Order: sequence, then C-alpha cells, then structure tokens
Amino acid sequence: MNTYELIKKKRDGFELSRAEINFLVSGFVDGRIPDYQMAAMLMALYFRGMNVRECYDLTLAMLESGDIVDLSRIDGFKVDKHSTGGVGDTTTLVLAPLVAASGGVVAKMTGKELGHTGGTVDKLASIPGMEMELSKEKFIQIVNRVHVSLIAQTSRLAPADKLIYALRNVTATVDSIPLIASSIMSKKLAAGADGIVLDVKTGAGAFMQKYEDALELAKTMVKIGKCAGKKVVALITGMEQPLGYAIGNAIEVKEAIDTLDGKGPPDLVDLVLELGSMMLVISGIASSGPTARRMLEENLAQKKGLKKLAELIEAQGGNPEVIQNPELLPQPDVKIEICSETSGFIGRIDALEVGMAARILGAGRKTKAESIDPSIGILLKRKVGDRVERGEPLAEFYSDGDKQKIATARSRFLSAYSIGDRQVDPPRFFYSRVTVDKIEELSVS
Ligand code: URA
Ligand code: CA
Repeated sequence: MNTYELIKKKRDGFELSRAEINFLVSGFVDGRIPDYQMAAMLMALYFRGMNVRECYDLTLAMLESGDIVDLSRIDGFKVDKHSTGGVGDTTTLVLAPLVAASGGVVAKMTGKELGHTGGTVDKLASIPGMEMELSKEKFIQIVNRVHVSLIAQTSRLAPADKLIYALRNVTATVDSIPLIASSIMSKKLAAGADGIVLDVKTGAGAFMQKYEDALELAKTMVKIGKCAGKKVVALITGMEQPLGYAIGNAIEVKEAIDTLDGKGPPDLVDLVLELGSMMLVISGIASSGPTARRMLEENLAQKKGLKKLAELIEAQGGNPEVIQNPELLPQPDVKIEICSETSGFIGRIDALEVGMAARILGAGRKTKAESIDPSIGILLKRKVGDRVERGEPLAEFYSDGDKQKIATARSRFLSAYSIGDRQVDPPRFFYSRVTVDKIEELSVS
C-alpha cells in the first residue's frame, strides 16, 4: 500500500477499505507515515466524509492501537455514559451513584479534560483523600462490591486517537462529524462497557451548536456502537445556558451532593432521570423508560443515591463525611457577589462565556500541564426566565482573590447575560432520543 495513493483515493471521493484504514492508522502511530501526509489525509476525510463502515473501521483501528479494558470479571451488564461536553456539567457525579443505587453497574473511566472546568476526575479529586488513579484490580474489586467506580482513564487507551487528535487540532480538521464520532467511540469502546448512553449536547454552549449536526453525530456514534455489538443510545440535549447552578470542581461536588439529597436544580435532576432511565433500560434492569424513571425517582427520594455516593467516596479512599459536612471540601479564599447592572428578565446566558469566566478565575485548564484550583468556581444565582433588579446578584465568584483575574472574569461574565423587559421561557432542553432504529422527538420543555 502507498500513502500517496490512499490520499488521492479519498480526495477523489472513494471509500477506503478496512485494510487501508488500518495501514494509515498503524503507519501514523509507528512514524512511517509523516505528519504532512496524515494532515492531507485528514483534510480529504474532512471534505469527503466517511460512511458508517469506514467510521467503524477507523474506530477499531484507533481502539486497537492501545489497551482494551477487560471488564469481564465484573458481574452484570456494565453501563457507561458519555457527554460531548458543556458548561457546568455535574451530571456524572449524580447519575453514576443513582444508577448504581438502582441496580446498575457503572464502571467508568473518564479523561483528564481541557476546558472551562476540569472533567469528572478533577471534580471528584477535590474530595479530600479521593484516589482517582486506581489499579485495574482495585477498580474491578470496587465495582463488584459497590457497583460503581469512577477513575482516571489511562493514557494507554486509544493512543492513536490522541496522536491524530493533536494533528487535527492544528490542521482545522477537528469539526468533522465522522472523525469526532470515531474518536469518541474508540475511547468509549476501549473502556470495555457493554452499553453506553451518550449525551450529545447542542446549542450555543455546545460543541455541536446546530441540532442537525448533533443528530448526525449521535446517529453515527449509535451505529458505530451497533457495529461493535454494544448497546448504545443517545440523547440530544440543549446546552444554551449552563447546567445547574454550579460551575467548577469542588462547587460541583457540592451541587451533586445537594442534588442527591433532593435539593437539586430542576434541569440537572431532569437530565439525570432521563439519562439514568436509558442506562437502566439498556442494562435490562427496567422494562421501559417510565418504569426506570419511577425507580430512579424513588431511590432519589429515599436518598439511596446519596448513600451510594458516600460508599463510592469511601471505597476510593476519600472522606465520606463531605456528604454531611460539605465544608470539608476545598473552600475558596474569597466569595464575591457579581451584581446586575440593570433590572429586567434574564433572556439569555451564553454558556461558553460563563465557562470562559470560570476558567479565567482558575477553575479549568488550557493545557494538560496546567493545574486547577479545586476551590474556584462560579455559583449562579439567576438563570434564563428569572427576574433581577439592578444591584442584585447574578452570581457568586469563588476565587483565590487575584484582582486581575476577577476583573477580567467579571466583565466576561456580565457580557454573557442578556437582560430585557420581557420574560422568556427557558430554552429547550430535551430534543430527541436516538437508537439504532429510530429517532424519537422529546417533548419541548
Ligand atoms: N472529543 C473527542 O474525544 N474527540 C473529538 O474528536 C472531539 C471531541
Ligand atoms: Ca452544574
């Protein structure tokens, strides 16, 4: 095989075979194919796309470049969840223990994410003592005993994806749906679950801003999952404004504790119930969505998810007393109210700008080398549809006291809010549910 010929073939719109895709991926990982040829190939893929078979073959080639986690020593159907990202996404911290408390088995590895806040790993790591880098043995033991464990993904999962992603990042080829779908699924499939529920976000604060693109991404990932013999379902949800009220790390752990204690923000609770229902249904624990939802609601009301979170924290070496006493979580040096400069109704909150403000304060990282201050974050006080008077707080900044950062974050944050005379409804939250054979519209609310 000849790389030049393969680039030309894709450039001219032809399909690549499994052997050709394997040749490209392994050649790139081995260094036999130089960056300039792979870059040209990625650009050809960007413009010509890939069919589902090609996406699946690319997914497999990337997944086989590294470790494949064997979860067969864990009893039961192992279910995982993945979100395509968003601002203030506390979901996993609530969902994983609640699903486990309802009979599901959640063995989840999550990546060290870049972005506005840390990823789930960083959030959980803010709990004193919490160990996120467990050996595979320990991980399996905990899941068998507690039915849930969340650990940091090793760098040995799909290393080809990491290399290709780095090249995509500098060649304007990140936003290709077939490439994104294959990238996400290579890591998810390598993590070894039997079923995966995908939360594909759409809207101004999401990676896929247009609904049609989110739908296409969801369909592609669900089909790749089917090719791999896994049960994969996707939910398309709105990310117009930040999810819940907390954006940060320790502050989101606190939000998760409150939510499992029955005092959660309605959007976060709704999302958890919807994703959780799908996890229980594909796990074969509930026969239908409504039955699953009732189970979850009951367990939430009885604080079983909260108890499960305590068990999870304890199993991973953390201090479970944070549940009763959240002051044990890292506390910021200062809390500063950010007040509205006008009176009116909140019409819009640009989630990305709020995320940027959180990152400027120090809640997130731009490069993997940067460290995160777990105590930093933003606590929203007003969301879309709420009324605010001039001088009333829109949010509270949890900060290290750095005046420069606070000033920059403050102007960024205030510009994210549109405040007007008319009260508007909150933006649409649920769009659709995508399975292998159908797309169901979900009610507008
Ligand atoms: N997230 C991923 O893991 N891969 C992509 O290509 C884009 C987002
Ligand atoms: Ca949140």
